[in-house]
Amino acid sequence: MNRSLPACRFCGAALEHVFADLGTMPLANGFLEPDALARPEPAYPLIARLCTRCFLVQVDEVVPAESIFTDYAYFSSYSSLWLEHTRAYAEAMLRRLALGRASKVVEIASNDGCLLRHFVDAGVPALGVEPAANVAAAALAQGVATEVAFFGRKTAERLLSEGHAADLMVANNVLAHVPDLNDFVAGFKILLRPRGIATFEFPHLQRLIEQAQFDTIYHEHYSYFSLRTAERVLRSHGLQVFDVESLATHGGSLRLFVAHAEAARPEGSALAAVRAGEAEAGLGDVRGYLGFQQRIDAIRRDFLRFVERARAGGSRVAAYGAAAKGNTLLNYCGIRSDRIEYVVDRNPRKQGRYLPGSHLPVLPPKRLFETRPDYIVILPWNLACEIAQDLGGIAAWGGRLVTAIPDIRVW
Ligand SMILES: [Zn+2]
Repeated sequence: MNRSLPACRFCGAALEHVFADLGTMPLANGFLEPDALARPEPAYPLIARLCTRCFLVQVDEVVPAESIFTDYAYFSSYSSLWLEHTRAYAEAMLRRLALGRASKVVEIASNDGCLLRHFVDAGVPALGVEPAANVAAAALAQGVATEVAFFGRKTAERLLSEGHAADLMVANNVLAHVPDLNDFVAGFKILLRPRGIATFEFPHLQRLIEQAQFDTIYHEHYSYFSLRTAERVLRSHGLQVFDVESLATHGGSLRLFVAHAEAARPEGSALAAVRAGEAEAGLGDVRGYLGFQQRIDAIRRDFLRFVERARAGGSRVAAYGAAAKGNTLLNYCGIRSDRIEYVVDRNPRKQGRYLPGSHLPVLPPKRLFETRPDYIVILPWNLACEIAQDLGGIAAWGGRLVTAIPDIRVW
């Protein structure tokens, strides 16, 4: 074993295979205040590696999670699509599990409480666990009990001793953001009641590969899961995946339904189908992961060519959505404000700041209608349909929308 290589955060094997090397860039959520622009900006290598033993794709932990997630600028409630997603989830789970006043729902990384709010409104006791104090404060303000903590064995044991054993545990888009994966998953085994269930949502690695979604790779996003690898991780902690749903969120996600292995629940039929799809895509073999770097380099070349041609023709280019994934795209392409003038975002916490690396200023959406750019690059392409509806007015001056992934598309 080569001791200079990092070890897999799940199984400990040496990570010999590079899945994607995105060079050096600042943290995707490291938005800058104006006075920080003149100071040197820390940047870190962004390399996604493949474990050829368990097939977990993973990014080195270059910065401890404590320094990333304790003052977080992401508020779930700024995406109306996500709000609808949480409402539909809560309704389905209230029905499926027949939850009531004696039940307990615990959500990990509960953000501003927008999901748990639905359970509270239905009279079901709920508790959020959220490491970012500023976001947790927003949850408390709307009546959702929230603990400011990172989740893992220790937090699970404390919550259990305080009477928070859970009938339903919710983990939406958090599994990928956990550096100590084994400690995190072990916490579910501890806090889940014997007949309880947990649901995990995460972007599906199979979709990431198929759609060349390389911009979903960033430092704060530590792990990228197939169903087969997620099952392997959960199984090693005494948990069983008994059902799965495929979701459209984040470019294609999986929602796993998980229970104690001892409960020996019958498997839903969708599991076999997703497993077969992954096997067909070659995800059980290193061959399914080859060639990704060449595809993202082609996207970089095409995107730069598009922006250069637009500007050479006298067109003005702006961007929409100061999402983490946009920063990977802009910084991998080396784009600065001389090529794309600014980015707009609905989140007032991001407005007035600057994107990490590219230093594009973040402005309110009305700026588009004041400056009338010819092209607006939608950075969070997963929300492109929603954003296109919001921006219908740009047709008035012939403005066009652009997405760069999986290839350049002018709407
Ligand atoms: Zn591994």
